Amino acid sequence: MTAALPIDVAFMQDFLVGLLNTPSPTGFAEAAIAYTEKAFAPFPLTARRTHKGALVLEWAGQSASAPRALTAHVDTLGAMVKEIKDNGRLKLTKIGGFAWNTVEGEGCNVYTASGKTVRGSLLVTAASSHVYGAETGEAKRDDSHMEVRLDERTHSEMTTRALGIQVGDFVAFDPRVEVSPAGFIRSRHLDDKACVATLLGAVKALVEAGVQPAQRTTLHISNYEEVGHGASSGFPPDIVELLTVDMAAMGQGQESDEYNVTICVKDSGGPYHIDMTRKLTRLASEAAVPYKLDIYPNYGSDGEAYWRAGGDVQVGLIGMGVDASHNYERTHQDGLRRTAQLIAEYLRQA
Ligand SMILES: [Zn+2]
Repeated sequence: MTAALPIDVAFMQDFLVGLLNTPSPTGFAEAAIAYTEKAFAPFPLTARRTHKGALVLEWAGQSASAPRALTAHVDTLGAMVKEIKDNGRLKLTKIGGFAWNTVEGEGCNVYTASGKTVRGSLLVTAASSHVYGAETGEAKRDDSHMEVRLDERTHSEMTTRALGIQVGDFVAFDPRVEVSPAGFIRSRHLDDKACVATLLGAVKALVEAGVQPAQRTTLHISNYEEVGHGASSGFPPDIVELLTVDMAAMGQGQESDEYNVTICVKDSGGPYHIDMTRKLTRLASEAAVPYKLDIYPNYGSDGEAYWRAGGDVQVGLIGMGVDASHNYERTHQDGLRRTAQLIAEYLRQA
């Protein structure tokens, strides 16, 4: 039995709120990568960027006989301008897997090539029930029935183009972050920014306890996870284990919740490596970190992206439960703490 290391939850949460408020749809995640790099700067890890733009942090271990890596992603769901419509509004194409109704009515930023940000909101095309009646509720929420209404005086394609908006501009939906006195964190994009925060919290816990990781460790902050190939590259060739830290899927029939860390045994990509799953279960038990085991029915992870790319490693997956994932999400400080505790155990145990 080893006592789990104390975790500075307030520190993790402050970092997390800042990260959530840094827009980073996949393909446009540099600001979130830079924010994360800055947060790790006080700790004894060496930072570099991959050509693809991922952040790679190397941490010397007590041994380098079986080097390890951990990955979590800062990129999020979002959209891109597909067409500028005759009425001056924008038709979008989705980035990542979500349903339009989950962002209906949400405020958004459109980022122009010249560096300007234009505000707007996402609406169904038949938005006013005074005009469209039942159609407002019944219209299918698909690409052709959703549009961005810009907060600018534009009612034509020409005027919108004159704002500097063009096809391919990235669009980020407002996260609407709120922290409650009861310890809940409600926001879009907790997937996977909450887990990036737990990596930072675990590093801080080890450094403050004066503990070096057992093995040379690479932290990989991915920037293309939501489209499936984030962590397919960016690791040293000699790693033997890859721990993916990503949200646990909650819902009917699921074991995961907002207060515990889940060790995922299987998702849409098949089973995680049995040795990793058993090791993580043992570490959690020995340090008395409450955990759940779960299977995610519609889910793929960056660890599997590395497996598919040919990575010869044992892959595991852990993370706190996130309610209403890829929607208006929520988790709890307890889930953050326990996830960080299990990461810390993984880092320090041989
Ligand atoms: Zn994720």
